[in-house]
Amino acid sequence: MTARLPPEPILIAVLIVDAHLDLSMNALEWNRDFTRPIEEIRAREQALTDKPDRGRGTVTFPEMRRGGVGLCVATLIARYVAPRNPLPGWHSQDQAWAQTQGQLAWYRAMEERGELVAIRDRAELERHVGHWNDRPPSASAPTESRAPTFALRATAGKPSPEPRSEAPIGYVLSLEGADSIRTPQHLERAYAQGLRAVGPAHYGPGVYAQGTNATGVMGPGGHELLREMERLGIILDATHLCDDSFRDALDHFRGPVWASHSNCRALVDHNRQFSDDQLRELIARGAVIGAAFDAWMIVPNWVRGTSTPQSAGVTLERVIDHIDHICQIAGNARHCMIGSDLDGAFGREQCPSDVDTIADLAKIPNLLRKRGYTEDDVRGILHGNFLRFLRDVWG
Ligand SMILES: [Zn+2]
Repeated sequence: MTARLPPEPILIAVLIVDAHLDLSMNALEWNRDFTRPIEEIRAREQALTDKPDRGRGTVTFPEMRRGGVGLCVATLIARYVAPRNPLPGWHSQDQAWAQTQGQLAWYRAMEERGELVAIRDRAELERHVGHWNDRPPSASAPTESRAPTFALRATAGKPSPEPRSEAPIGYVLSLEGADSIRTPQHLERAYAQGLRAVGPAHYGPGVYAQGTNATGVMGPGGHELLREMERLGIILDATHLCDDSFRDALDHFRGPVWASHSNCRALVDHNRQFSDDQLRELIARGAVIGAAFDAWMIVPNWVRGTSTPQSAGVTLERVIDHIDHICQIAGNARHCMIGSDLDGAFGREQCPSDVDTIADLAKIPNLLRKRGYTEDDVRGILHGNFLRFLRDVWG
């Protein structure tokens, strides 16, 4: 069993990036107010049974700050389903578009409250990293060697612009499944609203691409989407693409590619995971790949609703196995990051047993050090690889 962490801030010295969180989905579909303490959110869900993770959520803004998770990729998500598609979803693309616009309105509301800050370009990225760095923003671009280590509160030389506990969390807006993009003009509008990454598919068949558990290529509509993404400079998120669509997408897209929350097929054999060949191809394209924390993707033979993190031996160490597998394929630690998905329709019942809240991502640095990863490697996995990728993409 995991013990509850002490309520005071963890004085972690390193910025942690989480490359995949479904924040607005939780706010509007799970009715979770992420500004509130985790205990309060759990308590209000005790009598609810409509979602599998009720009362067991792991993500809030205070918990993110406590763990040093000061920057994330946050999604818009709304699926279109054709008449015989059994998956949950909207019956028209216009409804899906409207759903994502509602989700965007929640992100805006969180920006107005100072809980979140949108990161849309290089200047905003550097300003935010500088802020979390506990240093005044610098006009000159920080180099990789000037890693964004922020000073411990107790030893900070100068006060930060506002207390750490209240600092806005940066978010890069992403779209998980592109069904809500009814026309190329909708993508252009979404870009103007801050959208910077798109995963063309989610679970099942999609309008533009086929996702997890589906088969088939992207086709002409998908290729048009990719061309428009390329023109706008939108990152392709390869996560969730089925093997056929993955092949098709990489053949037709010349822009930047990442995989926000994906693990290794060599360790857990499922089409949701990347084969070693796919990982090699992503690495050759300069991708960064986020380690996902959904238990069934971490260890083999997970049985939904039966297995527990304890019975299946799901721990952060087993997540590191996936990170290490990718590093061994790459021959370096420059292509891994964290993409926890910790609020992706599962909670403590289906994530590593040593994760009580997202603040426990702060345990990862020491686990990596124990495996022999250098300080540079550790910083790269926690934030450096993500920042390097975005700095390249955004110039
Ligand atoms: Zn996902």
